[in-house]
Order: sequence, then C-alpha cells, then structure tokens
Amino acid sequence: LQRLRARLARSQSTLGQGLLNLLSRDSLTDEDWDEIEDLLISADVGVAPSRMIVDELRTKVKVTGQLSPDQVRTLLREQLVAQIGPDLQRALHVDPHGGHPAVVMVVGVNGTGKTTTTGKLSRVLVGDGKQVLLGAADTFRAAAAEQLTTWGERVGARVVRGPEGSDPASVAFEAVKQGIQDGVDTVIIDTAGRLHTKTGLMDELGKVKRVIEKQATVDEVLLVLDATTGQNGLTQARVFAEVVNITGIALTKLDGTAKGGIVISVQRELGVPVKLVGLGEGPDDLAPFDAEAFVDAILG
Ligand code: GDP
Repeated sequence: LQRLRARLARSQSTLGQGLLNLLSRDSLTDEDWDEIEDLLISADVGVAPSRMIVDELRTKVKVTGQLSPDQVRTLLREQLVAQIGPDLQRALHVDPHGGHPAVVMVVGVNGTGKTTTTGKLSRVLVGDGKQVLLGAADTFRAAAAEQLTTWGERVGARVVRGPEGSDPASVAFEAVKQGIQDGVDTVIIDTAGRLHTKTGLMDELGKVKRVIEKQATVDEVLLVLDATTGQNGLTQARVFAEVVNITGIALTKLDGTAKGGIVISVQRELGVPVKLVGLGEGPDDLAPFDAEAFVDAILG
C-alpha cells in the first residue's frame, strides 16, 4: 500500500503543488482565484465542484486573512476531502451470504481495464484467504477469456469460460452455478464492454444480471473507468449507469494521469463511490480507495 501511495503521489502531485503554490500567494486577486478554479477544472474536478471549492476557500481566506503555508494546506485538504466524501460506503461486498457466494459483476468499456481489475481483485481476495471463481463472460473476444485464464492461473482462481461467441449470460450462469457447487466465497464475472447501442448493451448486461439472479444475488456491479479518458470516459460511464445499477467504481490508470479530480466528477455524475483504484499494470497495483489518503497523496 505504501508503494501504491507513492505512485499515486507521483502522478497527482502536480495538481497538489500547483494548488498549494497558487493559494500561498501573498494576497489573492480575482485572477488568482480564477487560476485556482482553472487548475481544478483542468484536473477533471468538474466545473460545479471546482466553483464550490473556490467559493469555500475564498470565504475562509476572507475571514482568516493571510494564511500560513500550513493553514493553506489544511484548508485545501479539508475542501478536497469534503468534496470526495470521507463518509461514503466504499467497502466491497465480497463475502458469501445465505449459502451463496457473493457475486461481483465487472462492467465498462473495452480497454478501460476490466479484465486486469478482475484479476487484481481476485488476487487481493485470494490473498485474504477467500476462494474465488472467475467467469469469462466477455465471449466476443477470445483474447479476453485467454487473459482472464492467465490471471486465474496466476492468482489461484478457477476460471469458467465458454466458446468464443457464446452467450455471455450462459457463461455467467455456469460460473455462478459452479461457484455454488464448489462453495467458493466470491464469483467475479468479467463482462463484455462493446459500446454498440444502448439497447444492445442493456439487453446483454441485463440478461447477464437476470440469469445470475436465478441462483444468487448480484452483490456488486463495479464500473471500471479509465482515469486518463477524462470527461469522455464519463460520458460512456453514464450509459452503463443507465443500463445497470452500478454499486461502485474502479478507477484505473491513475498512475498515468495527474487528473485525479476525476474522482470527484465521476462520483458526482454517477452518484456512486469510487471503491478501488488501479495504479499500474501489475498484479498488486490495486488499492481500496480512501478519501483522506488520496488527498494526502495529492498534497504530498
Ligand atoms: P478490458 O478490455 O477493459 O478488459 O481492459 P484490460 O484489462 O485488457 O486492460 C487494458 C490495458 O490497460 C492493459 O494493457 C492493462 O495492462 C492496462 N491497465 C489496466 N489497469 C491499469 C492501471 O491501473 N494502470 C495502468 N497503467 N494500466 C492499466
């Protein structure tokens, strides 16, 4: 976790340093405040939340007068943590209940990191002593099932897959069935993320979910979002949120962008918490999201 924090700090510190520098100017002019707002917006914080943060900071500075660097840091930290939501429920539901494994569906546009996140998550769970079974419900790309199988072998999780082009729902059904038979703790279903048409997607994911629900409950629907795609990724994410009930976001590739403000805009946009962050391509590069630790990494 320490290593991941360091990686996060490395990618996000330009944002934190920029904000701290601007806020430390002697007397802040209107232009300075505009610059602060622009910096937040350019870090994908979103227009409305950026305005809110600036307004709050401005009011505080007006009351307190000139601030010491420590006070600036404390104030900024407070604002960012408040925007990110320190009290949101970010725990993943991955424990079996009612005699069934917990079922996690992983959804999102292709290339965002679904399979990688599924693999990394299963590694964390296996590391915690859980038995995990993976379902390769992205049946449209042979490479996706291959990739998941490799992850399964690497982390010690069985993988259920179907022939290429087979019905994703039947693979999901079979995976959950076998998960129940084997008495595993968690079944994770990696789904296909073709953004063909909204109805197509809805039919497909809806069917996968319905079929799983014949045997167990779907405890988590994790939407994987690539942090480097910014507002574009957010638009695509919205389509998924419209077709399935998302319970959490896995924000990947935060190691490859300084725009950590996306955490704020995505939560605001979709109304669900970021639960996991991806900080690299390796098997251990996944961390639970924590608002305070995230802000501390940004501020250095
Ligand atoms: P999928 O199509 O959504 O299943 O995406 P993949 O899991 O195949 O990932 C697409 C690419 O993104 C792969 O090259 C991954 O190694 C890479 N990737 C996934 N997560 C991360 C991350 O957190 N950081 C970085 N740097 N790369 C990632």
